[in-house]
Amino acid sequence: MFRLFTFAATLLAGSGVLVADEAFPPHKVAGNVYYVGSKDLAAYLIKTPEGHILINTGFEETVPLIRGAIEKLGVPLKEIKFLLASHAHSDHVAGHATMKELTGAKVCVMRGDHAVMAAGGVGQYLYKESRWKPCEVDRVLDDGDEVKLGGTTLVARRTPGHTRGCTTWTWKVREGEKDLLVVVIGSPNVNAGYRLVGNQDYPEIAADFAKTFQILKSLPCDVFLGAHGEYYGMLAKVERLGGEKNPFVDPEGYKAYVELKEKAFQKTLAEQKEP
Ligand SMILES: [Zn+2]
Repeated sequence: MFRLFTFAATLLAGSGVLVADEAFPPHKVAGNVYYVGSKDLAAYLIKTPEGHILINTGFEETVPLIRGAIEKLGVPLKEIKFLLASHAHSDHVAGHATMKELTGAKVCVMRGDHAVMAAGGVGQYLYKESRWKPCEVDRVLDDGDEVKLGGTTLVARRTPGHTRGCTTWTWKVREGEKDLLVVVIGSPNVNAGYRLVGNQDYPEIAADFAKTFQILKSLPCDVFLGAHGEYYGMLAKVERLGGEKNPFVDPEGYKAYVELKEKAFQKTLAEQKEP
């Protein structure tokens, strides 16, 4: 277990930026939801009486960290029944093929990202060199489709732009006497190098981002999560665990984040429209 906390690696993220990643202690988020990601790359384990669901696997190099976190929670990998994803960029799905081998889970991916996932990264917008171990997709999802297991129902919302099949996951958890709505944002980010205007590889990209912000603004959210811990201030929130209030219950933070990202999208769009 010691190795788990000393492992550190320098990885090339989907954005082409070098990031140092390391193991992070798994922690309960709310209800049956547990954070099992690395320090930077979020992965969530949703525990149910009939098996479990895992969202995201990180890079191939992240898989041992996620595996360590899951086992630290006392959950055998073979009990994981579904593997889901935030979006088909290497920092969230490159580990899917290995995790599928380890768990035997069914892989469910949103239409638009499913072919990229199965082809090991071929067909991505912009990141033409990025590759991973191809992963068979067992079920292709459409907007609003549900993944059900052991009394928990996850709803897949297609929130495209960042990738064509970028997926925001939302579901209800029971925390004490209350029902809470969880939202895991797929990604609202216009990455460096993205062309929003005159993009021949992804002509509908600006319209897709606009649609995504409409959806994100319409979603009720109590528990604010995302594909990277950085989206929702994971590190700072973990520091506040054990207090009277659950720091991950943050509807205002969710609204502010979506607003901030929509403004950033509109600013980039306006800049790129200038002659
Ligand atoms: Zn990405």
